[in-house]
Amino acid sequence: MYNLLIFGPPGVGKGTQAKTIAENFGLFHLSTGEYLRKAIDEETELGKKAKEIVERGCLVPDDIMIGIVKEALVKNITKNGFILDGFPRTIPQAKALAKIFNELKYDNILVLHLTAHENELVRRLLNRGRGDDTEDTIKHRLRIYEDSTKPVIDFYKDCTLEVDGIGEIDDISKEIFKKLKKTE
Ligand code: ADP
Repeated sequence: MYNLLIFGPPGVGKGTQAKTIAENFGLFHLSTGEYLRKAIDEETELGKKAKEIVERGCLVPDDIMIGIVKEALVKNITKNGFILDGFPRTIPQAKALAKIFNELKYDNILVLHLTAHENELVRRLLNRGRGDDTEDTIKHRLRIYEDSTKPVIDFYKDCTLEVDGIGEIDDISKEIFKKLKKTE
């Protein structure tokens, strides 16, 4: 059973790796970014609220995100565990998540931290060209990552596995699997 959080700056490939890990271990996978993009496409109440925020590369308010994640975790209790991708991104989100884990009796949380240099990240994001991948928005998201999300990684420093996010996608997956197996 794996209870995983995956962290990494925009463009590091955490979405791709999270998907592979979830398939490989049969985990419940929640990407808060994907969840928001779907809501925006479907023009739901949440989507209408989040659209402008996401397009500017800002963070959706903590209370909204905490509500989404809590509901999803309560609804999707699995025997194999879960992987959260894109949450928590702020210290208040991390504190709220600790409370949720406590209520659901989830322990043995492991954190995967994918790293890469900023130049490489900007190059990849400009190539990807998602709606929120413009030069100004990318810079803003990278700054938010440094200011708001890096402190969250410190919060989990005792249970974090670092993985180099530069290289072939398959090699990075293998490296992650190897590191996870070692924790068993
Ligand atoms: P990336 O990490 O590549 O920027 P994501 O798909 O994880 O992409 O997130 C896209 C956007 O969705 C973020 O820039 C932010 O606006 C919003 N978002 C996702 N997760 C959260 C969260 N936990 N808290 C606040 N906003 C979030």
